[in-house]
Amino acid sequence: MSNDTYDIVVIGAGPAGLFGAFYAGMRQMKTKVIDALEQPGGQLAVLYPEKYIYDCPGFPRVLAKDLVKYLVEQTSRFNPTMVLGERVMTLEKENGIFKLSTDKGNYHYGKTVLITAGVGAFSPNRLEAPGVAQYENKGVYYFVRDKSIFKDKRLLIVGGGDSAVDWALNMVGWASKITLIHRRDQFRAHEESVAELLKSPVEVKLFYEVKEVLGDGNNVTGAVIFDNRTKQEIKLEVDAVLVNIGFRADLGPIKNWGLVIEGREIRTNGKMETNIPGVYAAGDIAGPENSVKLNLIATAFAQAAIAVNVAKNYIDPSSRIFPGHSSEMTVQEIKPSARL
Ligand SMILES: Cc1cc2nc3c(=O)[nH]c(=O)nc-3n(C[C@H](O)[C@H](O)[C@H](O)COP(=O)(O)OP(=O)(O)OC[C@H]3O[C@@H](n4cnc5c(N)ncnc54)[C@H](O)[C@@H]3O)c2cc1C
Repeated sequence: MSNDTYDIVVIGAGPAGLFGAFYAGMRQMKTKVIDALEQPGGQLAVLYPEKYIYDCPGFPRVLAKDLVKYLVEQTSRFNPTMVLGERVMTLEKENGIFKLSTDKGNYHYGKTVLITAGVGAFSPNRLEAPGVAQYENKGVYYFVRDKSIFKDKRLLIVGGGDSAVDWALNMVGWASKITLIHRRDQFRAHEESVAELLKSPVEVKLFYEVKEVLGDGNNVTGAVIFDNRTKQEIKLEVDAVLVNIGFRADLGPIKNWGLVIEGREIRTNGKMETNIPGVYAAGDIAGPENSVKLNLIATAFAQAAIAVNVAKNYIDPSSRIFPGHSSEMTVQEIKPSARL
């Protein structure tokens, strides 16, 4: 992990963080984005990927997961360094530079910091059953980082939300056999996806939960599931278990960073400056003084743009806060990345 000092380190890759990172790129700031999750998108990615958003400017309607895809594409134009799966635990200033440490034992350095931590760091709800922790990442997974590990495997999926149902459908024809168990008979997933699931080759078992994950010490070999009404157990032969039973969010360590926090909000002024010079906040976590609190994507975008442009001027007081219009910039100024 490089110890480079970035112009701005953005904590959180939800809509505020992604759009902030895009704007930082527009201002030619060296940018790093850190998120506790393995995937970008914040609440859109974990709480409502399959729902339509109707109040995002410019889109009559857009699926949350598609908006995340567009934001990532827009942000990648400037190739920010993306650090996923790391939760920022501490923030302190050393010799004029902000030093952030994460739960992975890494350090990140920035001249400025933008906190776009939303409702807190997301982490997957973990399954509590014998064998689960032992085989985590050795057959038991909470995210699909690499679909190839499920190729031709017998897969057990646990959950009834969008992630569980979408992955079950996605794995049809890829995994050799798919069983989905859900502890209730009501799904939280999108109705159309559930209808598709019930017509698919996926074996769906309702009112079932995991009792134990079995293995040979290195790999998962099976799972014992039980009917939560009758307690009757079934032993399944499976090679992998994908657990998608929701996420929890926790502001946690942010409360110890010396910021003025009221309720779940970091107090800022109208320039999105916190009480710590060089540290800004935007999006759901920001509570600008004398303002109206609207926890919306549109508000998050505007606040992130203000914060980043103010941060640019903080690093380089000779630079203007107003960035100019992107429509009037030259192709060189909007440096396209090779990845697009
Ligand atoms: C069901 C639902 C439907 C919604 N529908 C709409 C809608 O139709 N229109 C609309 O405008 N808004 C809607 N919203 C609200 C909208 O999703 C939020 O306003 C928006 O997500 C806020 O973006 P954000 O970037 O501030 O925070 P978030 O989206 O919460 O992202 C914050 C990110 O920061 C990360 N993070 C937090 N702490 C740390 C840490 N210490 N270290 C590393 N990473 C950290 C989190 O893991 C997360 O990924 C909806 C919300 C919900 C729950």
